[in-house]
Amino acid sequence: MQYYSLHKTAPVVDFKTATIQGQAPDKGLYFPAQIPQHSFIDTINKMNDADICFRAIAPFVGDCITEEQLYKIVTETISFPIPLQPIHEKISSLELFHGPTLAFKDIGARFMSRCLAEFCKNEKKKITVLVATSGDTGGAVASGFYKVPNVEVIILYPSGKVSPVQEKQLTTLGYNIHALEVLGSFDDCQQMVKLAFADKDLQENYFLTSANSINIARWLPQQFYYFLSYKQLQDKSEAPIFSVPSGNFGNICAGIMAYATGLPVQHFIAACNINDVVSNYLAGNPYQIKQATPTLSNAMDVGNPSNFNRILEIFKQEMSSLKRIFSSATVTDNEIIATIKGVYQKHGYLLDPHTAVGYHALEKFITNHTSKNNIVLATAHPVKFPEAIQIATGEKTPIPNHLSLLMEAEKKSILLEANYAKFKEWLSNRN
Ligand SMILES: *Cc1c(COP(=O)(O)O)cnc(C)c1O
Repeated sequence: MQYYSLHKTAPVVDFKTATIQGQAPDKGLYFPAQIPQHSFIDTINKMNDADICFRAIAPFVGDCITEEQLYKIVTETISFPIPLQPIHEKISSLELFHGPTLAFKDIGARFMSRCLAEFCKNEKKKITVLVATSGDTGGAVASGFYKVPNVEVIILYPSGKVSPVQEKQLTTLGYNIHALEVLGSFDDCQQMVKLAFADKDLQENYFLTSANSINIARWLPQQFYYFLSYKQLQDKSEAPIFSVPSGNFGNICAGIMAYATGLPVQHFIAACNINDVVSNYLAGNPYQIKQATPTLSNAMDVGNPSNFNRILEIFKQEMSSLKRIFSSATVTDNEIIATIKGVYQKHGYLLDPHTAVGYHALEKFITNHTSKNNIVLATAHPVKFPEAIQIATGEKTPIPNHLSLLMEAEKKSILLEANYAKFKEWLSNRN
């Protein structure tokens, strides 16, 4: 498989190069030159999960990784359950939070770290992974890359804007994982990472790559969720509706890619918090990048969702085709709290604030639908957000054992101003 840059001025590359580069030299996102058409979907019920995921991803990887090695990577990536859990008769929750950092980003991070480890087996230069996080990416990447030989990870996160659990997940590992606590917003962090990739001095001295959701090796394996949930549908006579809590739009873009390869889907809802750039655009306004506003669903506080352009590309930049299958919704913090509370009281099911955004949007969307297969992607475990849960339910969430150990571990971060020159200086002064 070849990948081209959405800015169309960089050379076409293979999966390996696109993964290592992260972003194309012309700063565009990489996009596959063909969209494969899968033939396994009719027999999905008879296949095991690893076979499904292997068949889903193999054409995107091409011959950059041997089949045997890719199968091993896929198996390790999905080594925890991804159950489709009914909340009530109309809505099911696809629980993507049973991985090591209790959020869906584990899947992409585990897949990518294993691909990179494979690619740099014979490299002499160390690979430096740069990643900006609004919360969950950092932890998933830190865990995915922890102690992977030849790879160093530098995580930039906005000081005071990630939850205590999230912060511990990215600041306590040590070894090859370094956490930079930036006095600014997520968008500042992302901007600093983007500038580093465009910086010729740095490119000469470092083998830099990004682990943000723009990286194809994180973006594409997220298709697994959609295939695995489809397999679990009891009644496949009607294609499912997916509501996806969205920030940078990587997850939903992977779902739409799965659809483009042949997975039956009736509709996608991009469920957003009040950071509503895409909703405004779909409503016919110009695409206007905004400063991100902090919300209870902090991993979705994104003012410039990078992957939206990829979604448009799947539909050959035709808004009308996109709108046939895709809509977006905006959910406020008050609605998040009310949703967590209502669902807990009525159904005894605890939603985290991100999943609550998805649930609320889905419930609203199906009010006038008779659809049976309505799925919300549960992107994080509620124990990661105890404050919001307590406000909503009045109850304290019991903290699982491994989390309390984590909370006791010592935070190690490097404070940094939101200033690219300072970041570059820090990076350059390292050996
Ligand atoms: C990252 C994240 C999201 C948003 O995912 P995108 O792929 O950036 O749209 C939603 N929920 C949680 C819990 C997350 O960590």
